[in-house]
Amino acid sequence: MRRWNGWGDASIRVELPPEAAVLLQQRVGNGRISPDYPLDKFLKRIPAARLPQHPLVTDDPLQRLQCAHGQSLPDWIGLRGGTLNRFPDGVAQPESVQDLHAILAYAGNHNAVVIPYGGGTSVVGHLSVCESERPVLSVALRRVNRLIEIDGPNLMATFEAGIRGPELERQLNAKGFTLGHFPQSFEYSTLGGWVATRSSGQQSRHYGRIEQLYAGGEVATFKGQLKMPPFPASAAGPDLRQVVLGSEGRMGILTRIIVNILPLPDVNDIQGIFFPSWDYASKAVKALAQSQISLSMIRLSNAQETAANLTLAGHAQQIRWLKRFLRFRGIDPALACMCLIGYIGSARLARVAKSEAATIIRRFKGVPVGKRIGDAWKKNRFRSAYLRNTLWELGYAVDTLETAVNWDKVTVTMNRVEDALMQALEPVNERILAFSHLSHVYATGASIYTTFVFRLADTPQKTLDHWRKLKQAASQAIVKAGGTISHHHGIGRDHQPYLQAEKGAVGINALRQMFAYLDPNQQMNPGKLLP
Ligand SMILES: Cc1cc2nc3c(=O)[nH]c(=O)nc-3n(C[C@H](O)[C@H](O)[C@H](O)COP(=O)(O)OP(=O)(O)OC[C@H]3O[C@@H](n4cnc5c(N)ncnc54)[C@H](O)[C@@H]3O)c2cc1C
Repeated sequence: MRRWNGWGDASIRVELPPEAAVLLQQRVGNGRISPDYPLDKFLKRIPAARLPQHPLVTDDPLQRLQCAHGQSLPDWIGLRGGTLNRFPDGVAQPESVQDLHAILAYAGNHNAVVIPYGGGTSVVGHLSVCESERPVLSVALRRVNRLIEIDGPNLMATFEAGIRGPELERQLNAKGFTLGHFPQSFEYSTLGGWVATRSSGQQSRHYGRIEQLYAGGEVATFKGQLKMPPFPASAAGPDLRQVVLGSEGRMGILTRIIVNILPLPDVNDIQGIFFPSWDYASKAVKALAQSQISLSMIRLSNAQETAANLTLAGHAQQIRWLKRFLRFRGIDPALACMCLIGYIGSARLARVAKSEAATIIRRFKGVPVGKRIGDAWKKNRFRSAYLRNTLWELGYAVDTLETAVNWDKVTVTMNRVEDALMQALEPVNERILAFSHLSHVYATGASIYTTFVFRLADTPQKTLDHWRKLKQAASQAIVKAGGTISHHHGIGRDHQPYLQAEKGAVGINALRQMFAYLDPNQQMNPGKLLP
C-alpha cells in the first residue's frame, strides 16, 4: 500500500546506518523530531465538494487528500505538519480514453479547474490546488493504463498515458523490448507524467530523455483532439510534440502515447571508478561525454557526495577496505570523486566501449573498482528515495535541486549553488549539508543535481520558511550562473518565478497564447508552469 504522507510503499523502510546519523549530527545538528499530523484529522477537515455528482467522479475524502499534493518538500511539510488546506472537490477515475473525453465535457459544463494526476510524484508543486472560486477536479489517470500495441518491426509501442514504469517495462520486456526510461520515481510515475514534465531517466545517455522516446500520440483538449503521428522525421513546420513535452497539464490530457522502444540489451553493466580530485574527475567525464563512446550513463559525484554516499552505504568494514585500497593507489579518500559508468548493448559493443573508456579514465588518473559498486547502485537505485521518510522521522528534511549548464560553467555553478544553500540559513543559525553530482552529461555540458539536508524547525510554518529561503537562494544562484531552472523536474509552481529569465517575455506570451487557444477558459491546471 502506498504511504499517504511520504514516499513509496508503506511496508518498506530503509534504515540510516549509525555512521550516517553521526555525520548528520556533526554537520547539521541534532534532528528536531516533529509529530505527524494524523490522517483522521485531515479527513474530517476536507470541505464539502462543490461539484455535482457524476458516475466517474468521487468525493471520497481520502482520494481528495491523496490528489491534493505531489512529493515536493512544501507538499511534505503540508501533509506531515497538517498545514495542507486546499483539496480538489472531486477525483475523476476514468477507465478509458472515452471516459476522459466525457470527463472533459463534464468539467467544461461546470467550469471546473482540471488537474491531470499521473503518479503524483512531482517534486515542484505541479499538483497543488490553487485557490479558486471554481470547483477543482483532479483527474486520476491510474486506470487509463493499457498497452495498446507493440509494433516490433518499427520499434514503437503505444500505451495509455496512465501506465506506471514497472508495468510498462513488464509488458515490453515480455516481448523482448524496453523503453529504457528509469527515473528514480520509476515505481510510481507514469508515461503521461514523464512526457508532461520532460523527464529524464538514469540511463538517458543510451536511451535518450523522454523527448527522444516520445514519438507521438493524442492529447484531449477543450478544443478537440490534438493528434501527432509518429513520423520518423518531418520537415512539416514546427513539431507540435515539442510543445506537448513539458506542457504540465496546461494544454489538455495526454491520452495515448506512442514511444520508441529498443530490444533488451545483452549487457547492462555499471562500473565504479574513483578519481583523485574533482578537477581530474570533471575533465575525464567531459572527455567521455565528448567522445563517441556508447555509454548508458555517466554519473559523477563530487567529493562531498562521495563521502556522504560511502557513509550512507553502511557497510563499514568494506568501506574501510575500499579507502585503504584508494590510499594504496594514491587517492586521498577525503578528495575522491566517485563516478558510475554504464556499458550497454551487445557483448561486443560493451567490450569496445569499456576498452575505449579505459584509455580516457587512465589519462585522468581514474581507478576502476569493478562492478560491485555499480551492482549495489543498481539494486538500490529506487530504494534510496525511501531514506527521505527515515530522515524526516529523525527530524531532518531533504530536498534536491537540478540545473544544466555548458561545460565552462559546470564547476562554478555547482560550487555557487552549494554555497548559496550553506549560507541561506546562517541568520537563523541553522547548518546545511549539501552535495552534488553530475547526473546526465552531454557533449556541450552537464546537469548538476544537488541534494541538501536541513533540520525541521519547531513549527511547519518555520520549516516551510526555511525551505523557501534555501530554494530561493539556490534558484537565484542557478539563474545568475546562466543555468536552466530545471533539467528534468519541470516548472510546476515552485520554479515559476525563474522561468521568464530563460524564456523571455516574448516566449512566455507566445506559450500563454497557445494555451489560451486550446483552453479558452483557463481550466487546465491554472497557476502551474506560467505565472
Ligand atoms: C523520489 C523521486 C525521484 C524522482 N526522480 C526523477 C528522475 O530521476 N527523473 C525525472 O525526470 N524526474 C524525477 N522525479 C520527478 C517526477 O517523478 C517526474 O516529474 C515525473 O515525470 C512525474 O510523473 P507523474 O506520473 O508522477 O506525474 P504527476 O506528478 O502526477 O504530474 C506531473 C505533471 O504532469 C501532468 N500530467 C501527468 N499526467 C498527465 C497526462 N496524462 N496528461 C497531461 N498532463 C499530465 C500533471 O498535471 C502535472 O502537471 C522524481 C520524483 C521523486 C519523488
